[in-house]
Amino acid sequence: MQFSFAKGRFAACCLLLGAACAAAGFALGAALSARPSAGKAPAPSVRLLPAAISQPSPPQSQPLPQRLVCLTFDDGPSRTTPAVLEALAAEGVPATFFVVASESNESYLPLVQQAQQAGHEIALHSASHKYSDIYRSADAFWADIELLRQRLAPYVDAEELRCLRFPGGSTNTVSHKYGGSGIMQQLKEQAEQQGLRWVDWNVCAEDATGQKLSADAVCRNVTEGSQGLDRCVVLMHDSATTATTAQALPSIIRWYKENGYTFCTVSQLYGRTG
Ligand SMILES: [Zn+2]
Repeated sequence: MQFSFAKGRFAACCLLLGAACAAAGFALGAALSARPSAGKAPAPSVRLLPAAISQPSPPQSQPLPQRLVCLTFDDGPSRTTPAVLEALAAEGVPATFFVVASESNESYLPLVQQAQQAGHEIALHSASHKYSDIYRSADAFWADIELLRQRLAPYVDAEELRCLRFPGGSTNTVSHKYGGSGIMQQLKEQAEQQGLRWVDWNVCAEDATGQKLSADAVCRNVTEGSQGLDRCVVLMHDSATTATTAQALPSIIRWYKENGYTFCTVSQLYGRTG
């Protein structure tokens, strides 16, 4: 089973997940924190679905999927994004794009509109993605997010974007160099005060480590990292240098389908309508 791209089905799914979250109310933070820092889980801030919940009508008999996967792409749009969109469309699955808006990707920004119209979620990442700038203070960080919203505004309703992924993840320590050891905790609290959902990942393609990985290696990183997980939030990239990730997508999607996963966006996973 997988979510249809039809808006009605998406909306129904969101409602279901939202109800499930409200009913279950157990925290996810550790489970979906970045793997490299699994030893120091962030404060729980996001909620996860219980393993199985009966589905309200209609239809009564169909249980919620036990296995869910969110494919997420950071640092686009770029020249790689069209190939990613094509691979997703070919398999009919939704994804979430945590986007940037710097001078170097300006000409690709219209792709966010295309992605949203295709049923994907657009989410906040950073305008500049420069750690030395965005993490020097909380004010600098939110100014960068405001700039990102401004640059996205011609293409999507930027004020409606409610999910955020911190560059480097919520437990990154590189930010300490610029904004002190408390900067991430401060930013997480401020995000929540603004009603923003910050989202990490628990599966990593490792496609942005600087080495040029083959499509096979990207696929292997994702599938091996997903073993035994019922909820996967997969970190991948659609930046200019990650073309092999797009090439790996058909195999990655096939693997999740064969292993019984249902595809959804991060807002659907967390019970938001996005
Ligand atoms: Zn990034």
